[in-house]
Amino acid sequence: MSRTALVTGGSRGIGAAIALRLAQEGADVAITYVRSEEAAQEVVRKIEAAGRRGVALRSDAAGSEGAASAVGRAADALGRLDILVNNAGVGVLGPVDSLATADVDRVLAVNVRAVFLASQAAAARMERGGRIVSIGSCMTKYVPGPGGSLYAMSKSALTGLTKALARELGPRGITANLIHPGPIDTDMNPSDGPYAPAQKAGTALDRFGTAEEVASLVAYVTSDEASYITGAELAVDGGHAA
Ligand code: NDP
Repeated sequence: MSRTALVTGGSRGIGAAIALRLAQEGADVAITYVRSEEAAQEVVRKIEAAGRRGVALRSDAAGSEGAASAVGRAADALGRLDILVNNAGVGVLGPVDSLATADVDRVLAVNVRAVFLASQAAAARMERGGRIVSIGSCMTKYVPGPGGSLYAMSKSALTGLTKALARELGPRGITANLIHPGPIDTDMNPSDGPYAPAQKAGTALDRFGTAEEVASLVAYVTSDEASYITGAELAVDGGHAA
């Protein structure tokens, strides 16, 4: 039986690369998106070109039911759920005294609350062999300069969630892991943006990574080969934390 996956925030960037890679590895894949309908449909076309089923669900992770209901809709559409990739995220950077309470609420809603609710909903449906992977950030290991307080805090919360989920779901044969990308060239963090030179210089490899390089690690962690990896934090960061 082919595996099924939900990738939140799969219309662009890292999530789109993960969705396509999982399809190439033989999974039917649902993605969520909020604004980029056309981009989401393009990802579905690529999944189908890889010979798998693709489903695009408009679902705001910050909505009251968003993350959990997306899991249910994906499982219903694909018949079951074997893999959840909590990828959707927002980056709000700025000096700590410039961040409004609304910024705090939005970042925590998408980067933390939604990840908890989606993982909770997925755990209730997954069978032995299930995989939960969340996308954290290299800023949980090393914050290279000012402006990262809210974002780094939000991504650091996923460490506790991942370890606790691993303990709780381990007896059921379900793994939970956290992947920390370094600077990756996407709309969120373009490699020609104003903060790019400092980020590039902060890596050991002296370059931005690609979304495909993150997808490669997600493919491994969600494969049968990674059956003894759980509760782990894995970096794909070009040596940003070295
Ligand atoms: P992008 O901004 O390029 O893409 C974000 C994706 O998430 C889009 O598909 C977007 O869909 C979707 N999305 C945004 N908000 C929501 C929401 N509320 N509900 C559902 N989907 C949403 O980001 P990246 O690809 O760069 O980042 C992906 C993940 O990787 C994030 O968690 C980010 O924090 C993390 N990360 C990124 C790094 C980088 O350097 N790029 C480094 C470390 C971590 P739509 O367009 O339809 O709104």
